[in-house]
Amino acid sequence: MPLQRHRPFASFLSDYGCPYDCAFCNTGRLRYRTRPADELRDELATLAEMGFRELFVKDMSFGAHKRHADETLALLAERHFSWHTYARLEDLPPAVLARMAETGAHLVQVGLEHVVPEILGPMGKPYGVRDIEEFFAASRDARIDVGLHLVLGLPGETPATLAALEDFLAREADPAYVSINLYAPRKGARLAQAEGGGDDPHDSTRGSDSGALPRDVLRRARDRMYRRFYARPARVRRLAGQMRLPEMWHGVRRVFAG
Ligand code: SF4
Repeated sequence: MPLQRHRPFASFLSDYGCPYDCAFCNTGRLRYRTRPADELRDELATLAEMGFRELFVKDMSFGAHKRHADETLALLAERHFSWHTYARLEDLPPAVLARMAETGAHLVQVGLEHVVPEILGPMGKPYGVRDIEEFFAASRDARIDVGLHLVLGLPGETPATLAALEDFLAREADPAYVSINLYAPRKGARLAQAEGGGDDPHDSTRGSDSGALPRDVLRRARDRMYRRFYARPARVRRLAGQMRLPEMWHGVRRVFAG
């Protein structure tokens, strides 16, 4: 986690599972539960006393439960942690992003998955490029970085949709990082069940025979996207300012090794 601001960090979970039910994900199949505010307050106090300054708020989708998110933000505001979390972009309107920044949030890791609405909608993620751009603008205003998590090979993926995503990454988006997965059916997810159960274990680095395009096609597309995204001069400058030297050297070697 090279973008964290302080080491060591502590993981902190304010809720469990996810109230959404995206077709490719099995987290939404777990029963969603929130932790009581008293318990969270005590845990934050303990972490502060132990000297932690950085939290990885590992909620699978921070902000999905609005009242609970408000309560958690109020608790975080009582402390002075620096923190980052996973979230869906629709759950973080400008006012919530601003409040998060006030409480020390510096990075939101968004499961964007793709930019083509015809792929996103059936998966349970109803947004398009304009929504994504508005989210980026609001995040910039709040001074919170955005990390993007993508999936190639979901149903509806074609060479044209891969090209649309690659163009978006190369030209328009300016996230702190992108992490590109290849679709692999996860046991328990609705899509995996419809396809016969899911891979065991699923492997989103190597991909799966269940992807909408052959895994070699998806791997080449992923590698091309990484090169185009991370090799931009502005990107290298930005990363160089944020990373420690060993991490930066490792990343540069990975990009140019192809
Ligand atoms: S992809 Fe994210 S928002 Fe969708 S069910 Fe999984 S954790 Fe929840």
